[in-house]
Amino acid sequence: MANFISDLLNLCYPLVCAACGNGLFQGESVICTHCLYHLPKTNFHLQEGNPVEKQFWGKVPVFAATALYYFNKGQRVQHLIHRLKYQGDKEVGSFTGRYLGLELLKSTRYQDVTHVIPVPLHESKKRLRGYNQSDFFGEGIAESMRIPFIPDFLIRQQATSSQTRKARYSRFENMNRMFVLNEKYETQKPHFLLVDDVITTGSTLASCAETLLLTPDSRVSLATIAYARL
Ligand SMILES: [Zn+2]
Repeated sequence: MANFISDLLNLCYPLVCAACGNGLFQGESVICTHCLYHLPKTNFHLQEGNPVEKQFWGKVPVFAATALYYFNKGQRVQHLIHRLKYQGDKEVGSFTGRYLGLELLKSTRYQDVTHVIPVPLHESKKRLRGYNQSDFFGEGIAESMRIPFIPDFLIRQQATSSQTRKARYSRFENMNRMFVLNEKYETQKPHFLLVDDVITTGSTLASCAETLLLTPDSRVSLATIAYARL
């Protein structure tokens, strides 16, 4: 019944742009042509030592890091993320992922990426929401770059209250416990691309990157849809 109603709504209302909400013209999908040209792109994939990379300096040796858009400039990127995260609009993730993937292929620092790995969601959140919004974005990048997307490469540990208490005294111990590597995967000299929807403090991405770097001879780069400056 729910499907029938949504089909009916799609027939009654024209499809709209996920960023500005205006109707899409024929040949456009997900984001309208005007937004594609005017959304605030960071182009960080072309800039070594960009602000996202700087956030990890002295913390985790991240090889390269980028975000497709600035989060704070105007409402349209926020709208885009909201559509993906809370309204389950999977197409927003796939579309931005495919778009960024094509851009990354033009950058020498990303051309040799071997695997796309999403930041795993808390199981409780995933159950509630039914999906991990970063999966759609990661799948899109992997599709454009023609490399594997591995959603369960990292496993998020359930934090217990005793671990949370301990974490105040030993940050390193806490990081090792927050995520673990899935033992069923073996990789040779991998260059991981770790992906998430938005980067703010980068602390979750840092924990994930530290865990991925436990793989011998590995490198880790990062990509998100949006970058929220603090
Ligand atoms: Zn638009």
